[in-house]
Amino acid sequence: MTEVFANVQAAAPDAILGVTAKYLADPRPEKVNLGVGLYLDETGKPKVLDVVREEQEALIEAGLPNTYLPIRGLPAYRDLTQKMVFGEQSEVVQSGRACTIQALGGTGAIKLAADFMRNVCGATVGASSDPTWGNHDGIMRLAGMQVQRYRYYDAAHFCVDFSGMLEDVAKLPAGAMPIFHSCCHNPTGYDLTLEQWTQLLELCRSHGLVPLLDMAYQGFRDGLDADAAAIRLFAESDLDFLVATSYSKSFGLYSERVGALTVVTGSKKQADAVTTRIEALARANYSNPPSFGSRIVAGVLSDAAKRARWEVELAAMRDRIRAMRHALVQETEKIGAKRDFSFVTRQGGMFSFTGFTPEQMDRLATEFGIYAVRNGRICICGLNTSNVAYVARAFAAVL
Ligand code: PMP
Repeated sequence: MTEVFANVQAAAPDAILGVTAKYLADPRPEKVNLGVGLYLDETGKPKVLDVVREEQEALIEAGLPNTYLPIRGLPAYRDLTQKMVFGEQSEVVQSGRACTIQALGGTGAIKLAADFMRNVCGATVGASSDPTWGNHDGIMRLAGMQVQRYRYYDAAHFCVDFSGMLEDVAKLPAGAMPIFHSCCHNPTGYDLTLEQWTQLLELCRSHGLVPLLDMAYQGFRDGLDADAAAIRLFAESDLDFLVATSYSKSFGLYSERVGALTVVTGSKKQADAVTTRIEALARANYSNPPSFGSRIVAGVLSDAAKRARWEVELAAMRDRIRAMRHALVQETEKIGAKRDFSFVTRQGGMFSFTGFTPEQMDRLATEFGIYAVRNGRICICGLNTSNVAYVARAFAAVL
């Protein structure tokens, strides 16, 4: 051997994947996994939506040829995604001044966004919230951006540190790409109010920033339209910005990699040019997107009856999450926990920042078999009516 690979050091283990391994190895029957990043139903299983399963079966039955999709993706899927993001009647949709390119999940959309901003638009600086989803920084760095963090979480008051956020975003250089979580912030669960979004939008405009709104959980907080409110507010301004869409959670299609990047420009002509540049980036990355997931999503969204059924199933996921947030707070109140956990109901989406220290998280694991990320993030979907009282007792015990 020429020993080229002899000195390769193994990458640091993924903090979240390690959680599940520890959970699986724990023999205690009362153990709880609050570390996962996907929707689990009341029985602790990943959810297969009925309307998605039927569409999947119909597609297999139809036996379409597995030829390449266009690099920009399935046309119907791209159109429907744009309407999902901005609303059917949106000026952005009608004018054609936004382009939507199918991507490999939300991750793939962020990757295309970072590559495009760095290589085509010359953005050398990206920014992410502190804390943020683990992949934002890695993707921006790999694209060649220098990454800055902006304050987001106020640990002392269990809320967003909005003035800190504004201060830090204002320090970014013109042309930088800050990533904002458009709803269901991962990992904290705290979102901005519309008022705060308005201020942030003004700041982006006055400082020449080009934000990427990461929309991984549309429909998981308050509803499909309500959760897109920030994006629609931005769309009403004259700001150039980008949106990363993921259907992984809302359709329960995690492995099919269904996402999209939308770039909002000033005109159809600009949008057409941008599309060709992003296509070139996709071509050099992976060439063509996969068709199965995007056909499922397009099939459901384009049929009024199927779409209505999907919305009902999505609402059921959303309602269960909300119910579990309330149940956790009620249970901690019932046993007189030293901390007021009502902040959990002010958060939204799958995740909650509990405020526990890494040491408290370790105690939850060793003493109670409750596993989650050491930064204090729990996935609310790991809770159900059978384990929520046990988890509340454990939370109270480690305070
Ligand atoms: N952004 C955020 C904030 C996320 O939480 C996730 C998924 N965990 C993604 C993007 C990526 O989504 P996908 O799985 O579709 O790549």
